[in-house]
Amino acid sequence: MVRLILFGPPGAGKGTQAALLCELLSVPHISTGDLFREAIAAQSELGLKAQSYMDQGNLVPDQVVIEMIHDRLSQSDIQSGWILDGFPRTLAQAEALDDLLVELNQPYNTVVSLIVPNDFLVERMLGRGRKDDTEEVIRRRLQVYQAQTSPLIEYYRDRNMLQEIDGTGDVSEITLRIQQECLSH
Ligand code: AMP
Repeated sequence: MVRLILFGPPGAGKGTQAALLCELLSVPHISTGDLFREAIAAQSELGLKAQSYMDQGNLVPDQVVIEMIHDRLSQSDIQSGWILDGFPRTLAQAEALDDLLVELNQPYNTVVSLIVPNDFLVERMLGRGRKDDTEEVIRRRLQVYQAQTSPLIEYYRDRNMLQEIDGTGDVSEITLRIQQECLSH
């Protein structure tokens, strides 16, 4: 059973790697960013709540994200496992996820932390042309990552749940590294 948390700064390639691994392993790809973008496209209440935060490069409030993840992990397709991409992003989210996974009896295998130097991150984000990938918003997202998300590295390291993977190089090379170092047992 594969239940992975893919962790890393914005632009580290979490979305790309999660999509590839989910295809290979036939498990759902759960990306909170994608769920918000879908909600915005559908002009739903959730989308309206999330949009201004996303446009500015800020985090959507914990309560909104946690409720959305609760709903997603309660759906029937998660019986085969899952890969989480972009969640958790704060300590409160990590704690809520731990509680939720106990409640749902879905322990995760490991946290894969993609290590990519800062210079590469900006370059990668500018290359993908997303609405929230302007230079100003990118700078804000990196600040938010440092302040609110990077403390999770210690959180998972303390629990012996962190596996650090070099996130530079070819996309397929990185996928192979994750498979070999995090999934081959
Ligand atoms: P991503 O696609 O993962 O880069 O997420 C895009 C944007 O969605 C982020 O900049 C946040 O505004 C919002 N978002 C995604 N995941 C989360 C989360 N776990 N907590 C708060 N905001 C999130």
